Formats: sequence, structure tokens, C-alpha cells
Amino acid sequence: MLDRMEEFNGDKWIEEFEAITKDAERVQRESLRKILEDNGSAEYLQSLGLNGRTDPESYKACVPLVTHKELEPYIQRIVDGDSSPILTGKPITTISLSSGTTQGKPKFVPFNEELMETTVQIYKTSFAFRNREFPVGNGKALQFIYSSKQFKTKGGLAAGTATTNVFRSSQYKKTMKALQTPCCSPDEVIFGPDFHQSLYCHLLCGLIFREEIQLISSTFAHSLLHAFRTFEQVWEELCADIRTGVLSNRITVPSIRTAMSKLLKPNPEQADLIYEKCSGLSNWCGLIPEIFPNVKYIYGIMTGSMEPYLKKLRQYAGEVPLMSADYGSSEGWIGANINPKLPPELATYVVLPNIGYFEFLPLSENTGDQDQDKTEPTFLCVDSKPVGLTEVKIGEEYEIIVTNFAGLYRYRLGDVVTIVGFHNSTPELKFVYRRNLLLTINIDKNTEKDLQLSVEEAAKVLAGEKLEVVDFTSLVDVSTEPGHYVIFWELNGEGSEEVLRECCNRLDQSFVDAGYVSSRKVNTIGALELRIVRRGTFQKILDHFLALGAAVSQFKTPRYVGPTNGMVLQILCSNVVKSYFSTAFK
Ligand code: AMP
Repeated sequence: MLDRMEEFNGDKWIEEFEAITKDAERVQRESLRKILEDNGSAEYLQSLGLNGRTDPESYKACVPLVTHKELEPYIQRIVDGDSSPILTGKPITTISLSSGTTQGKPKFVPFNEELMETTVQIYKTSFAFRNREFPVGNGKALQFIYSSKQFKTKGGLAAGTATTNVFRSSQYKKTMKALQTPCCSPDEVIFGPDFHQSLYCHLLCGLIFREEIQLISSTFAHSLLHAFRTFEQVWEELCADIRTGVLSNRITVPSIRTAMSKLLKPNPEQADLIYEKCSGLSNWCGLIPEIFPNVKYIYGIMTGSMEPYLKKLRQYAGEVPLMSADYGSSEGWIGANINPKLPPELATYVVLPNIGYFEFLPLSENTGDQDQDKTEPTFLCVDSKPVGLTEVKIGEEYEIIVTNFAGLYRYRLGDVVTIVGFHNSTPELKFVYRRNLLLTINIDKNTEKDLQLSVEEAAKVLAGEKLEVVDFTSLVDVSTEPGHYVIFWELNGEGSEEVLRECCNRLDQSFVDAGYVSSRKVNTIGALELRIVRRGTFQKILDHFLALGAAVSQFKTPRYVGPTNGMVLQILCSNVVKSYFSTAFK
């Protein structure tokens, strides 16, 4: 016990967190100074004429706001093996692949030790708060975590998804051990080459250690849901493995077989018990507490594009609380969830002022810049001046701009957040949507969130038929005149014509944006189209991204399929089984 306390002192961690958040402005200046001093010799910074200055004013005056596109030539040189100081003082040796599900292909971003340290810091911070409210005992975590394909770039740098880089790090393992929650699966399972086999073995390990499991987690909630949907299909096979002590022959990777054989012993009583518990459930409600009696909470990123999965996840979770994990990206962490008691729908993130330098670009509709010809709504075209971390205003929406310890300077992350309050002097924010995910044809503007709300509303029509939307996405079809929205749905069963027609109308009516409604009324936007795709279509989309080097751990279903996402579009279109046009505005 004493040992454990020495390893991780949550109170001390919280104390330190309180101190840095009370002094956020100074800590931000300090972070910027450190970043610019460490990397002052980098070609990128040298070319911008900072001449050794490290204050925010000079920084903002000299360094432009950029997107990934502007930094791509620099990053490419690093990827190709140029080890001169390009973006950072010390050479970058590892590259992260962001999930890239919105653009259609993964993006490369630099990763280094400093980013790893911020990862550990944020994990420990939110854990300290979480553990104060929901203490875990000494046990194990059932973690649905997976590695991406790791490869060497042309220039010899190690490349993999950011989560893979993190999971591989010895510092990560040490941290998880200190937090009393080592993963119940062996490394061979986490880093196995075949995601389907890894998932099966994660489930099997979970069952083997079921009484020790203290928490269930994944990076994003999608993987949690995917895991339990898979459980519904393979549970009998899992029971058979436990009964006989012989691993299913679906596991073919030798290293996984060897590792699992050390854990799997014949245990007919346990198999019978699990079998009985599963057979006794109705529609799998309460599966998690039934099988894992000591689980304290379920943890993973549950906000933003993950929200649509919460309803189904709650079915599995029963009374066990769902908790959203922290907010970050391959480009670096941003904020920690320090209010673990809040349900994920209300989760907020407190920005850590010492893990990077943050600016916020205000998004405001009232700019007076009403150019009707613009293809994007004006509120997304505003390039007003970014404000500092402590200058943001409650209730306002901003795009986040990141300067990190791994060579990104004033980098537009593309995420929109709203400020809901302050924790001491650092803002507490809510994730709103990804800026480039937007359905727009003329004066309409619908965000990822609007789409989600509309789908939720329309899905209510399915409830009577005991049907659920497994997953969904959208596109704007301007090949017709006028253009119209297309929504793709995968369902868990067959819906009647009548119900699906009603769903289609309901989708159309549930986009309440004034621009959309008025355009629909005068038919400058055509009738919304609902296309139902075959079961398994979204699994094919996941497989497609995995083949590109993405990892399940970071997978986010693209909620909008843009023109650059040709392969996803092809998968969707070739799996359409039915399509309906709304008659809502007739
Ligand atoms: P990746 O591109 O795989 O690095 O994923 C990073 C992106 O995932 C972020 O830019 C956000 O859009 C999204 N994301 C990460 N954390 C959260 C969170 N807590 N809530 C909502 N979205 C998140």
C-alpha cells in the first residue's frame, strides 16, 4: 500500500495543477519562452526574424498562422531523413500519423520526448481527479488499445500513429503501472499485426481476469463500442476457449498464440458462469457490470464525433459510469477532464498552460462581412485576431491554435471549442466540432454537431421497430441541380419502407439552421436523400483506414465525406441498398 502511494501521489499532483492554473498567463509566457529557446536554431524560426526574442508579442508579430499544408514541405524533409534543425533544435526521430479520417489520408506530424512527457502529465492529472472520486483498487484495466502498422520512413524515421508511439513508450507503461492499472492483455496482443485477432484476445484476457478488472478503456469510444458489439458475436467462442483452455483457431499469429497460451488454462466453472450470465441478459443490457463485477468506470474520449455511440454504450454499461477521457490530438494535448462526475455529454476540458502555447481564433457571425458569393459561411471565413489563453471569453467559440514542443508553431488545429468557464485562471472548454466538417451548399451551414442532432432526432422513429443506427456519415451532392444533402445510415436490421421514409423526412426537418430551412423552402437546396447501406459497410471503411496505416485506437468515422475521400465514397456508394428522398418540404 505504502509502495503504491509513493509511486503516485494524487493530492500532490492536484496541488501542482492548481498552482499552474492559478498562474496561467505567466506559465504560458514561460512555456513559449522554453519552446522558442529550445528551438531557436531551427531553420523555420530563423527564417521568421525572431532573432532570439521569446515574448508573445514578438512571436505573434513574426510567426504566421499556418495549417498542416504550409508545414508539409518542412515535415516532408524530416520524413525523408534530413536531420538538420528544420522545425526543432534537436532532430525529430519519430513521426506520428494522425487518423486523417476527415481528409481521407493520414497526415504526418513530428513526435518527440517532450510530447511524450506532456502525455504522461495529462494522464496523471486527470487520473488524480478521477481517482479522488472513483478510486480504483489494485487491479487491471481492460484496454481496447491497438498499435498501427509501424514502419520506417524513406529517411529511416520510425512512424506510427501517435497512440502507437505512446503505447510503445516505456514511460507510458511505467505510468500505467504507477496508476495501478496495467493493461490486462500482453504486449503481443496490443501490438499484434491483425486488429481482429487483437480484439478477440483483449476480450478473452478481460474474461480471464474478469474479477480483477477495475476499469475499461480505449482512446476513443468508438473502439469500446466496436469491442462489445464484437463480444455479442463471439462470446460463445470465448467461453469455449476458457472451458477447454485451447485458444480458438481464428488466432493465427504465432506470437499472440504463445503469449495467450501462458494465460489461458482450462476453467469449465468460469466458462459456465460467464455463459450463464450472458444468456441471462436481455438485449445485452448491463453486460459490463454482469461480467466485470469490480469495474469502477468506463473511460475513453466520448465527446465530439463519439457522442452518437453513448446511447448504445450505456446499454452495455448499465449503472457503471461513463467518463470522457482528455482532449488532445496527434499534434499535442490540450486539456484534461478534471470533472469526472459529469456525464460525457457535459464533459469539459481544462487547458494545461504548461504543455504548449495556446491561442484562440474567435469565430463570430457578426463581422459585417456578408459576402453572399462565398462558398463557406462567413463565420468560418473570419480571420480576426487570435487571443491568448487567459483572454478568451465565456460563451464564445474559437478555433484552437497550437504551438508545441515538437516543431509546430501557431498551427491551426481545425477544432472549434466553446469556453464554458475558468478553472482558476485557465479556461475550461467544451469541444464543439471540427471546423472542416460542414454541410454547406449556399447560405446553409451545418456542423458535425447539427448532423448528429438531426440523426438522433430521426433515429427516434426507429425505436418502435427496435432498430438502431449503427453508424452514419454524410455528403453534399452538387452533381444534381439544386445540390442536396445525402445521409448514409447503417442499421442493425431491416427497416420498413414506411419507417425509413419517415426517417428521411425527419432528418430533413431536423436541420434547423435558418439558411438550410429557407433554402429548402424555395428549393435552392434539393430534397435530402437518405441512403441505407449494407450491414458491415462501416467496418469496411474502418478496414480501409487501417490498410492506410491508421490505428483502430484513433479511428473516428468521418461524418462528412469530402471530394478527397474518394475511396470512402466508393465503399459507401457500392453498398447502398435503398435510397429515399425527403418529401418534407413539398
Ligand atoms: P487525431 O487526428 O487522430 O490526432 O485526432 C485528434 C482529433 O480528435 C482532435 O483534433 C479532435 O478533433 C478529436 N478529439 C480528440 N480529443 C477529443 C475530445 N476529448 N473530444 C472531442 N474530440 C476530440
